[in-house]
Amino acid sequence: MLNLSLKELSLALGSKKFTSVELTQFFLNRIKKFNSSLNAFITIDEEKSLAMAKKSDQLIQSGSKSCLTGIPIAQKDIFCADGWKTTCGSKMLENFIAPYNSTVIKKFNESGAVNIGKTNMDEFAMGSSNETSYFGTVKNPWNHDCVPGGSSGGSAAAVAARLAPAATGTDTGGSIRQPASLCGFTGLKPTYGLVSRYGMIAFASSLDQAGPMAISAEDCALMLEVMTGYDNKDSTSINRKKQNYTNCLDEKIEGVRIGVPKEFFEDTLNPDVQKVVQEALTQYEKLGAKIINISLPNNFLAIPAYYVIAPAEASSNLSRYDGVRYGYRTKEYDDLMDMYFKTRQEGFGDEVKRRILIGTYVLSAGYFDAYYLKAQKIRRLIANDFKHAYEKCDVILGPSAPSVAFNSGEKQEDPLAMYMQDIFTISTNLAGLPAMSVPAGFIKDLPVGLQLIGNHFEESKILNMAHVYQQNTDWHLHKPKGID
Ligand code: GLN
Repeated sequence: MLNLSLKELSLALGSKKFTSVELTQFFLNRIKKFNSSLNAFITIDEEKSLAMAKKSDQLIQSGSKSCLTGIPIAQKDIFCADGWKTTCGSKMLENFIAPYNSTVIKKFNESGAVNIGKTNMDEFAMGSSNETSYFGTVKNPWNHDCVPGGSSGGSAAAVAARLAPAATGTDTGGSIRQPASLCGFTGLKPTYGLVSRYGMIAFASSLDQAGPMAISAEDCALMLEVMTGYDNKDSTSINRKKQNYTNCLDEKIEGVRIGVPKEFFEDTLNPDVQKVVQEALTQYEKLGAKIINISLPNNFLAIPAYYVIAPAEASSNLSRYDGVRYGYRTKEYDDLMDMYFKTRQEGFGDEVKRRILIGTYVLSAGYFDAYYLKAQKIRRLIANDFKHAYEKCDVILGPSAPSVAFNSGEKQEDPLAMYMQDIFTISTNLAGLPAMSVPAGFIKDLPVGLQLIGNHFEESKILNMAHVYQQNTDWHLHKPKGID
Protein backbone atom coordinates (compact mmCIF):
# COMPACT_ATOMS: atom_id res chain seq x y z
CA MET A 1 0.00 0.00 0.00
CA LEU A 2 2.91 2.27 0.84
CA ASN A 3 4.47 2.37 -2.61
CA LEU A 4 1.48 2.29 -4.91
CA SER A 5 0.60 5.23 -7.15
CA LEU A 6 -2.94 6.62 -7.06
CA LYS A 7 -3.75 4.70 -10.22
CA GLU A 8 -2.41 1.47 -8.75
CA LEU A 9 -4.31 2.07 -5.52
CA SER A 10 -7.47 2.61 -7.51
CA LEU A 11 -6.95 -0.61 -9.49
CA ALA A 12 -6.23 -2.57 -6.30
CA LEU A 13 -9.39 -1.22 -4.67
CA GLY A 14 -11.39 -2.04 -7.78
CA SER A 15 -10.10 -5.59 -7.93
CA LYS A 16 -10.80 -6.01 -4.18
CA LYS A 17 -7.15 -6.64 -3.24
CA PHE A 18 -7.95 -4.57 -0.18
CA THR A 19 -10.81 -2.36 0.94
CA SER A 20 -10.84 1.38 1.48
CA VAL A 21 -11.33 0.72 5.20
CA GLU A 22 -8.14 -1.34 5.25
CA LEU A 23 -6.25 1.24 3.23
CA THR A 24 -7.48 4.08 5.41
CA GLN A 25 -6.58 2.18 8.58
CA PHE A 26 -3.12 1.52 7.15
CA PHE A 27 -2.46 5.26 6.71
CA LEU A 28 -4.12 6.16 10.02
CA ASN A 29 -1.68 3.75 11.70
CA ARG A 30 1.22 5.44 9.93
CA ILE A 31 -0.03 8.82 11.11
CA LYS A 32 -0.22 7.48 14.67
CA LYS A 33 3.34 6.24 14.39
CA PHE A 34 4.96 9.29 12.80
CA ASN A 35 2.85 12.34 13.57
CA SER A 36 4.14 12.84 17.11
CA SER A 37 7.59 13.52 15.67
CA LEU A 38 6.62 15.25 12.39
CA ASN A 39 3.57 17.27 13.54
CA ALA A 40 2.16 17.13 10.00
CA PHE A 41 -1.49 16.97 11.05
CA ILE A 42 -3.52 19.37 13.15
CA THR A 43 -6.67 17.24 13.18
CA ILE A 44 -7.08 13.50 12.82
CA ASP A 45 -10.51 11.95 13.26
CA GLU A 46 -10.32 8.18 12.86
CA GLU A 47 -14.03 7.67 13.21
CA LYS A 48 -14.91 10.18 10.51
CA SER A 49 -12.23 8.92 8.11
CA LEU A 50 -13.25 5.29 8.58
CA ALA A 51 -16.93 6.14 8.09
CA MET A 52 -16.00 7.80 4.79
CA ALA A 53 -13.96 4.74 3.83
CA LYS A 54 -16.92 2.47 4.57
CA LYS A 55 -19.11 4.55 2.29
CA SER A 56 -16.45 4.40 -0.43
CA ASP A 57 -16.34 0.61 -0.11
CA GLN A 58 -20.09 0.55 -0.72
CA LEU A 59 -19.61 2.68 -3.85
CA ILE A 60 -16.92 0.29 -5.06
CA GLN A 61 -19.18 -2.70 -4.31
CA SER A 62 -22.00 -1.14 -6.30
CA GLY A 63 -19.68 -0.65 -9.27
CA SER A 64 -19.94 3.15 -9.30
CA LYS A 65 -16.39 4.10 -8.54
CA SER A 66 -14.25 6.83 -10.03
CA CYS A 67 -10.48 7.24 -9.97
CA LEU A 68 -10.05 8.48 -6.37
CA THR A 69 -12.86 6.48 -4.75
CA GLY A 70 -11.63 4.94 -1.51
CA ILE A 71 -8.25 6.71 -1.54
CA PRO A 72 -7.22 8.68 1.57
CA ILE A 73 -6.21 12.28 0.88
CA ALA A 74 -4.70 14.67 3.45
CA GLN A 75 -6.36 18.08 3.32
CA LYS A 76 -4.58 21.33 4.14
CA ASP A 77 -6.30 22.92 7.12
CA ILE A 78 -7.25 25.92 5.01
CA PHE A 79 -10.20 24.11 3.39
CA CYS A 80 -13.51 24.24 5.22
CA ALA A 81 -14.73 20.67 5.69
CA ASP A 82 -18.23 20.26 7.15
CA GLY A 83 -18.04 19.10 10.77
CA TRP A 84 -14.23 19.20 10.86
CA LYS A 85 -12.14 21.62 12.86
CA THR A 86 -10.69 24.08 10.33
CA THR A 87 -7.99 26.25 11.91
CA CYS A 88 -5.89 27.70 9.08
CA GLY A 89 -2.97 27.27 11.46
CA SER A 90 -4.24 30.08 13.70
CA LYS A 91 -5.28 30.51 17.31
CA MET A 92 -8.01 32.71 15.86
CA LEU A 93 -9.72 29.59 14.48
CA GLU A 94 -8.44 27.08 17.03
CA ASN A 95 -11.94 25.83 17.85
CA PHE A 96 -13.72 26.66 14.60
CA ILE A 97 -15.78 23.77 13.24
CA ALA A 98 -16.63 24.47 9.61
CA PRO A 99 -20.38 24.38 9.01
CA TYR A 100 -20.05 23.71 5.28
CA ASN A 101 -17.73 22.21 2.67
CA SER A 102 -15.38 24.18 0.50
CA THR A 103 -15.79 23.31 -3.17
CA VAL A 104 -12.46 21.45 -3.17
CA ILE A 105 -13.58 19.25 -0.25
CA LYS A 106 -17.00 18.77 -1.84
CA LYS A 107 -15.39 17.57 -5.06
CA PHE A 108 -13.14 15.10 -3.22
CA ASN A 109 -16.15 13.87 -1.24
CA GLU A 110 -18.19 13.42 -4.40
CA SER A 111 -15.35 11.44 -5.96
CA GLY A 112 -15.48 9.09 -2.96
CA ALA A 113 -12.03 10.05 -1.67
CA VAL A 114 -11.45 9.73 2.08
CA ASN A 115 -10.41 12.72 4.18
CA ILE A 116 -7.53 11.30 6.26
CA GLY A 117 -7.02 14.47 8.29
CA LYS A 118 -6.28 18.20 8.22
CA THR A 119 -2.66 19.19 7.79
CA ASN A 120 -0.53 21.74 9.58
CA MET A 121 0.32 25.01 7.85
CA ASP A 122 1.75 28.47 8.36
CA GLU A 123 -0.78 30.75 10.01
CA PHE A 124 -3.23 31.92 7.33
CA ALA A 125 -0.77 30.50 4.77
CA MET A 126 1.78 33.23 5.50
CA GLY A 127 5.24 31.75 5.58
CA SER A 128 7.81 29.56 3.84
CA SER A 129 8.82 27.24 6.66
CA ASN A 130 5.69 26.27 8.58
CA GLU A 131 7.16 28.03 11.59
CA THR A 132 4.34 30.57 11.89
CA SER A 133 1.75 27.88 12.71
CA TYR A 134 0.00 28.27 16.06
CA PHE A 135 0.13 24.46 16.23
CA GLY A 136 3.89 24.24 16.16
CA THR A 137 6.56 23.64 13.60
CA VAL A 138 6.56 20.70 11.20
CA LYS A 139 9.65 18.57 10.72
CA ASN A 140 11.11 17.80 7.32
CA PRO A 141 11.02 13.98 7.00
CA TRP A 142 14.41 14.04 5.20
CA ASN A 143 16.09 15.72 8.14
CA HIS A 144 14.24 16.57 11.33
CA ASP A 145 16.46 19.60 11.98
CA CYS A 146 15.17 21.19 8.77
CA VAL A 147 11.92 22.91 7.88
CA PRO A 148 9.54 21.27 5.37
CA GLY A 149 8.91 24.59 3.60
CA GLY A 150 5.62 26.42 3.69
CA SER A 151 2.98 27.35 3.92
CA SER A 152 1.70 23.85 3.01
CA GLY A 153 4.35 22.27 5.25
CA GLY A 154 2.06 19.71 6.92
CA SER A 155 0.80 18.38 3.59
CA ALA A 156 4.40 18.30 2.38
CA ALA A 157 5.65 16.27 5.35
CA ALA A 158 2.60 13.98 5.07
CA VAL A 159 3.32 13.17 1.41
CA ALA A 160 7.09 12.86 1.84
CA ALA A 161 6.71 10.50 4.83
CA ARG A 162 3.88 8.62 3.07
CA LEU A 163 1.36 9.39 5.82
CA ALA A 164 -1.13 9.77 2.98
CA PRO A 165 -0.87 8.82 -0.68
CA ALA A 166 -1.47 12.47 -1.66
CA ALA A 167 -2.51 15.82 -0.22
CA THR A 168 -3.90 19.21 -1.12
CA GLY A 169 -2.10 22.50 -0.77
CA THR A 170 -2.58 26.13 -1.68
CA ASP A 171 -0.14 28.41 -3.41
CA THR A 172 -0.32 32.19 -3.11
CA GLY A 173 3.36 32.86 -3.72
CA GLY A 174 4.90 29.40 -3.77
CA SER A 175 3.32 27.39 -0.96
CA ILE A 176 2.83 24.23 -3.00
CA ARG A 177 6.03 24.33 -5.05
CA GLN A 178 8.56 25.42 -2.43
CA PRO A 179 7.56 22.70 0.10
CA ALA A 180 7.39 20.18 -2.76
CA SER A 181 10.96 21.15 -3.61
CA LEU A 182 12.17 20.99 0.01
CA CYS A 183 10.46 17.66 0.71
CA GLY A 184 11.10 15.91 -2.61
CA PHE A 185 7.74 15.28 -4.26
CA THR A 186 5.59 16.65 -7.07
CA GLY A 187 3.28 19.64 -6.61
CA LEU A 188 1.25 21.75 -8.98
CA LYS A 189 -0.20 25.23 -8.74
CA PRO A 190 -2.91 25.55 -11.40
CA THR A 191 -3.79 28.56 -13.54
CA TYR A 192 -5.60 31.17 -11.42
CA GLY A 193 -9.34 30.51 -11.63
CA LEU A 194 -9.12 26.83 -12.54
CA VAL A 195 -9.83 25.52 -9.03
CA SER A 196 -12.60 27.13 -7.01
CA ARG A 197 -11.60 29.19 -3.97
CA TYR A 198 -15.03 28.85 -2.35
CA GLY A 199 -14.61 27.78 1.26
CA MET A 200 -10.83 28.04 1.09
CA ILE A 201 -9.87 30.49 3.82
CA ALA A 202 -8.70 33.63 2.01
CA PHE A 203 -5.18 35.04 2.27
CA ALA A 204 -4.66 37.10 -0.92
CA SER A 205 -7.67 36.46 -3.11
CA SER A 206 -6.17 37.52 -6.44
CA LEU A 207 -3.27 35.08 -5.96
CA ASP A 208 -4.58 32.11 -3.92
CA GLN A 209 -4.94 28.88 -5.82
CA ALA A 210 -5.37 25.29 -4.60
CA GLY A 211 -3.55 22.36 -6.13
CA PRO A 212 -2.37 18.77 -5.73
CA MET A 213 0.71 17.55 -3.82
CA ALA A 214 1.66 13.95 -4.63
CA ILE A 215 4.47 11.61 -5.55
CA SER A 216 4.29 11.86 -9.33
CA ALA A 217 2.99 14.02 -12.14
CA GLU A 218 0.52 11.26 -12.98
CA ASP A 219 -0.88 11.38 -9.44
CA CYS A 220 -1.13 15.18 -9.67
CA ALA A 221 -3.00 14.85 -12.97
CA LEU A 222 -5.57 12.51 -11.38
CA MET A 223 -6.06 14.85 -8.44
CA LEU A 224 -6.36 17.90 -10.68
CA GLU A 225 -9.15 16.25 -12.67
CA VAL A 226 -11.15 16.02 -9.45
CA MET A 227 -10.31 19.52 -8.21
CA THR A 228 -11.03 21.64 -11.29
CA GLY A 229 -14.33 22.87 -12.67
CA TYR A 230 -16.44 25.99 -12.90
CA ASP A 231 -18.07 27.11 -9.66
CA ASN A 232 -20.65 29.87 -9.55
CA LYS A 233 -19.85 30.35 -5.86
CA ASP A 234 -16.44 31.81 -6.80
CA SER A 235 -16.62 34.96 -8.91
CA THR A 236 -13.13 34.34 -10.30
CA SER A 237 -13.80 30.73 -11.27
CA ILE A 238 -13.29 30.25 -14.99
CA ASN A 239 -15.94 28.60 -17.09
CA ARG A 240 -14.20 26.35 -19.55
CA LYS A 241 -14.52 22.77 -20.63
CA LYS A 242 -13.19 20.34 -18.04
CA GLN A 243 -10.00 18.70 -19.20
CA ASN A 244 -8.75 15.17 -18.89
CA TYR A 245 -5.19 15.63 -17.67
CA THR A 246 -4.17 11.97 -17.53
CA ASN A 247 -4.94 11.45 -21.23
CA CYS A 248 -2.29 13.98 -22.21
CA LEU A 249 0.57 12.20 -20.44
CA ASP A 250 3.15 10.30 -22.46
CA GLU A 251 3.16 12.69 -25.38
CA LYS A 252 6.54 12.98 -27.09
CA ILE A 253 8.57 15.98 -26.02
CA GLU A 254 10.70 16.05 -29.13
CA GLY A 255 10.93 19.60 -30.40
CA VAL A 256 9.34 21.13 -27.29
CA ARG A 257 10.98 24.52 -26.72
CA ILE A 258 12.11 24.95 -23.11
CA GLY A 259 12.69 28.57 -22.16
CA VAL A 260 15.40 29.11 -19.57
CA PRO A 261 15.24 32.59 -18.00
CA LYS A 262 18.67 33.98 -17.31
CA GLU A 263 17.33 35.80 -14.24
CA PHE A 264 16.70 32.43 -12.55
CA PHE A 265 20.41 31.60 -12.60
CA GLU A 266 21.91 34.65 -10.99
CA ASP A 267 23.62 34.88 -7.60
CA THR A 268 20.40 34.25 -5.61
CA LEU A 269 20.65 30.61 -6.67
CA ASN A 270 22.73 28.11 -4.70
CA PRO A 271 25.39 26.74 -7.13
CA ASP A 272 24.60 23.12 -6.21
CA VAL A 273 20.93 23.69 -7.00
CA GLN A 274 22.00 25.25 -10.27
CA LYS A 275 23.95 22.08 -11.10
CA VAL A 276 20.92 19.90 -10.48
CA VAL A 277 18.79 22.10 -12.74
CA GLN A 278 21.47 21.99 -15.44
CA GLU A 279 21.48 18.21 -15.28
CA ALA A 280 17.73 18.13 -15.72
CA LEU A 281 18.09 20.40 -18.75
CA THR A 282 20.64 18.00 -20.23
CA GLN A 283 18.17 15.15 -19.63
CA TYR A 284 15.45 17.06 -21.47
CA GLU A 285 17.82 17.78 -24.33
CA LYS A 286 18.53 14.07 -24.61
CA LEU A 287 14.80 13.49 -24.83
CA GLY A 288 14.63 15.83 -27.80
CA ALA A 289 13.61 19.15 -26.24
CA LYS A 290 15.21 22.38 -27.45
CA ILE A 291 16.68 24.84 -24.97
CA ILE A 292 15.96 28.51 -25.64
CA ASN A 293 17.50 31.34 -23.65
CA ILE A 294 14.88 33.80 -22.52
CA SER A 295 14.63 36.75 -20.17
CA LEU A 296 12.11 37.75 -17.52
CA PRO A 297 13.55 41.22 -16.92
CA ASN A 298 11.07 42.23 -14.21
CA ASN A 299 11.38 39.10 -12.09
CA PHE A 300 13.50 40.97 -9.55
CA LEU A 301 10.44 43.13 -8.81
CA ALA A 302 8.19 40.15 -8.05
CA ILE A 303 8.93 39.94 -4.33
CA PRO A 304 8.52 43.67 -3.60
CA ALA A 305 5.30 43.80 -5.66
CA TYR A 306 3.94 40.67 -3.97
CA TYR A 307 4.70 42.02 -0.49
CA VAL A 308 2.52 45.03 -1.24
CA ILE A 309 -0.34 43.27 -3.03
CA ALA A 310 -0.60 40.15 -0.83
CA PRO A 311 -0.60 42.04 2.51
CA ALA A 312 -3.07 44.60 1.08
CA GLU A 313 -5.52 41.83 0.24
CA ALA A 314 -4.76 39.97 3.48
CA SER A 315 -5.44 43.02 5.63
CA SER A 316 -8.86 43.29 4.05
CA ASN A 317 -9.60 39.54 4.19
CA LEU A 318 -8.54 39.25 7.81
CA SER A 319 -10.73 42.11 9.00
CA ARG A 320 -13.51 39.54 9.46
CA TYR A 321 -11.76 38.10 12.54
CA ASP A 322 -13.19 40.57 15.00
CA GLY A 323 -14.26 38.29 17.83
CA VAL A 324 -17.91 38.84 16.95
CA ARG A 325 -18.79 36.64 14.02
CA TYR A 326 -16.73 33.54 14.65
CA GLY A 327 -13.43 32.34 15.97
CA TYR A 328 -11.50 33.49 19.01
CA ARG A 329 -12.75 36.21 21.38
CA THR A 330 -10.67 37.60 24.23
CA LYS A 331 -11.85 36.66 27.69
CA GLU A 332 -11.87 40.05 29.41
CA TYR A 333 -12.56 43.46 27.92
CA ASP A 334 -13.99 46.83 28.83
CA ASP A 335 -15.97 47.77 25.76
CA LEU A 336 -16.43 46.87 22.10
CA MET A 337 -13.22 48.56 20.90
CA ASP A 338 -11.23 46.94 23.67
CA MET A 339 -12.70 43.57 22.68
CA TYR A 340 -11.64 44.06 19.03
CA PHE A 341 -8.13 45.10 20.00
CA LYS A 342 -7.50 42.33 22.50
CA THR A 343 -9.06 39.65 20.31
CA ARG A 344 -6.84 40.50 17.36
CA GLN A 345 -3.80 41.07 19.52
CA GLU A 346 -4.16 37.65 21.18
CA GLY A 347 -5.58 35.72 18.22
CA PHE A 348 -3.03 36.54 15.52
CA GLY A 349 0.66 35.64 15.45
CA ASP A 350 3.52 38.04 14.65
CA GLU A 351 3.81 37.34 10.91
CA VAL A 352 0.08 37.84 10.38
CA LYS A 353 0.20 41.12 12.30
CA ARG A 354 3.16 42.25 10.22
CA ARG A 355 1.17 41.64 7.03
CA ILE A 356 -1.91 43.43 8.37
CA LEU A 357 0.23 46.44 9.26
CA ILE A 358 1.88 46.54 5.83
CA GLY A 359 -1.44 45.97 4.10
CA THR A 360 -3.36 48.71 5.84
CA TYR A 361 -0.43 51.07 5.33
CA VAL A 362 -0.17 50.56 1.55
CA LEU A 363 -3.93 50.91 1.16
CA SER A 364 -4.25 54.09 3.21
CA ALA A 365 -5.01 57.42 1.60
CA GLY A 366 -1.78 59.12 0.63
CA TYR A 367 0.16 55.88 0.17
CA PHE A 368 -2.21 53.98 -2.09
CA ASP A 369 -0.83 55.47 -5.34
CA ALA A 370 2.77 55.21 -4.27
CA TYR A 371 2.63 51.56 -3.20
CA TYR A 372 -0.50 49.63 -4.10
CA LEU A 373 -1.08 51.12 -7.53
CA LYS A 374 2.60 50.96 -8.35
CA ALA A 375 2.70 47.29 -7.36
CA GLN A 376 -0.27 46.57 -9.63
CA LYS A 377 1.57 48.20 -12.52
CA ILE A 378 4.61 46.03 -11.82
CA ARG A 379 2.31 43.03 -11.75
CA ARG A 380 1.28 43.85 -15.30
CA LEU A 381 4.91 44.20 -16.40
CA ILE A 382 5.70 40.79 -14.93
CA ALA A 383 2.72 39.22 -16.74
CA ASN A 384 3.88 40.85 -19.98
CA ASP A 385 7.37 39.38 -19.53
CA PHE A 386 5.82 35.92 -19.57
CA LYS A 387 3.64 36.79 -22.55
CA HIS A 388 6.70 37.78 -24.54
CA ALA A 389 8.61 34.71 -23.37
CA TYR A 390 5.86 32.38 -24.58
CA GLU A 391 6.22 33.78 -28.07
CA LYS A 392 9.60 32.02 -28.12
CA CYS A 393 9.06 28.89 -26.02
CA ASP A 394 6.44 26.34 -24.94
CA VAL A 395 7.35 25.91 -21.28
CA ILE A 396 9.72 27.65 -18.91
CA LEU A 397 12.16 25.75 -16.71
CA GLY A 398 14.12 26.79 -13.66
CA PRO A 399 14.63 26.00 -9.99
CA SER A 400 11.64 25.92 -7.61
CA ALA A 401 13.52 27.33 -4.63
CA PRO A 402 16.89 29.04 -4.23
CA SER A 403 18.21 26.40 -1.80
CA VAL A 404 17.46 23.05 -0.23
CA ALA A 405 15.64 22.81 3.12
CA PHE A 406 17.19 25.09 5.73
CA ASN A 407 17.45 24.58 9.49
CA SER A 408 14.51 25.35 11.77
CA GLY A 409 14.93 28.78 13.29
CA GLU A 410 17.54 29.84 10.75
CA LYS A 411 15.45 32.52 9.05
CA GLN A 412 12.82 33.11 11.72
CA GLU A 413 14.29 36.41 12.86
CA ASP A 414 14.86 37.67 9.33
CA PRO A 415 11.59 38.08 7.40
CA LEU A 416 13.35 39.31 4.24
CA ALA A 417 15.55 36.20 4.06
CA MET A 418 12.39 34.13 4.49
CA TYR A 419 10.58 36.08 1.75
CA MET A 420 13.46 35.34 -0.65
CA GLN A 421 12.49 31.65 -0.60
CA ASP A 422 9.83 32.49 -3.17
CA ILE A 423 12.06 34.40 -5.57
CA PHE A 424 11.39 31.88 -8.38
CA THR A 425 7.75 31.11 -7.64
CA ILE A 426 6.02 34.42 -6.91
CA SER A 427 6.09 35.87 -10.43
CA THR A 428 3.88 33.02 -11.71
CA ASN A 429 1.27 33.79 -9.06
CA LEU A 430 1.31 37.44 -10.04
CA ALA A 431 0.82 36.40 -13.69
CA GLY A 432 -1.76 33.70 -12.83
CA LEU A 433 0.22 30.98 -14.61
CA PRO A 434 0.32 27.23 -13.84
CA ALA A 435 3.60 25.86 -12.49
CA MET A 436 4.91 22.73 -10.85
CA SER A 437 7.81 21.48 -8.82
CA VAL A 438 9.32 18.11 -9.72
CA PRO A 439 12.05 16.23 -7.79
CA ALA A 440 15.30 16.43 -9.76
CA GLY A 441 18.11 15.35 -7.46
CA PHE A 442 19.71 15.74 -4.06
CA ILE A 443 22.32 17.88 -2.37
CA LYS A 444 23.76 15.71 0.39
CA ASP A 445 20.58 14.07 1.66
CA LEU A 446 18.19 16.88 0.85
CA PRO A 447 15.94 16.96 -2.22
CA VAL A 448 16.00 19.62 -4.95
CA GLY A 449 12.99 20.61 -7.03
CA LEU A 450 12.80 21.62 -10.65
CA GLN A 451 10.17 24.16 -11.65
CA LEU A 452 8.16 23.90 -14.87
CA ILE A 453 6.01 26.90 -15.74
CA GLY A 454 3.28 26.73 -18.39
CA ASN A 455 1.24 29.29 -20.24
CA HIS A 456 -2.33 29.90 -18.99
CA PHE A 457 -4.39 26.67 -18.93
CA GLU A 458 -1.48 24.60 -20.20
CA GLU A 459 -1.40 22.31 -17.18
CA SER A 460 -1.37 19.33 -19.56
CA LYS A 461 1.83 20.50 -21.15
CA ILE A 462 3.79 20.85 -17.92
CA LEU A 463 2.28 17.66 -16.49
CA ASN A 464 3.41 15.82 -19.60
CA MET A 465 6.89 17.35 -19.39
CA ALA A 466 7.12 16.26 -15.75
CA HIS A 467 5.70 12.81 -16.49
CA VAL A 468 8.14 12.08 -19.30
CA TYR A 469 11.00 13.22 -17.05
CA GLN A 470 9.75 10.89 -14.31
CA GLN A 471 9.56 7.99 -16.77
CA ASN A 472 13.28 8.53 -17.37
CA THR A 473 14.47 9.30 -13.82
CA ASP A 474 13.60 8.00 -10.37
CA TRP A 475 14.18 11.07 -8.18
CA HIS A 476 10.48 11.19 -7.28
CA LEU A 477 10.59 7.62 -5.94
CA HIS A 478 13.29 8.21 -3.33
CA LYS A 479 12.03 8.09 0.24
CA PRO A 480 13.39 9.59 3.46
CA LYS A 481 15.22 7.14 5.71
CA GLY A 482 13.30 5.43 8.46
CA ILE A 483 9.80 5.92 7.14
CA ASP A 484 9.13 2.33 6.02
N1 GLN B 1 5.83 32.37 1.38
C1 GLN B 1 4.87 33.26 0.79
C2 GLN B 1 4.25 34.09 1.86
O1 GLN B 1 4.64 33.98 2.95
C3 GLN B 1 3.85 32.49 0.02
C4 GLN B 1 2.84 31.81 0.85
C5 GLN B 1 1.80 31.06 0.08
O2 GLN B 1 2.00 30.76 -1.09
N2 GLN B 1 0.68 30.82 0.73
O3 GLN B 1 3.39 34.85 1.63
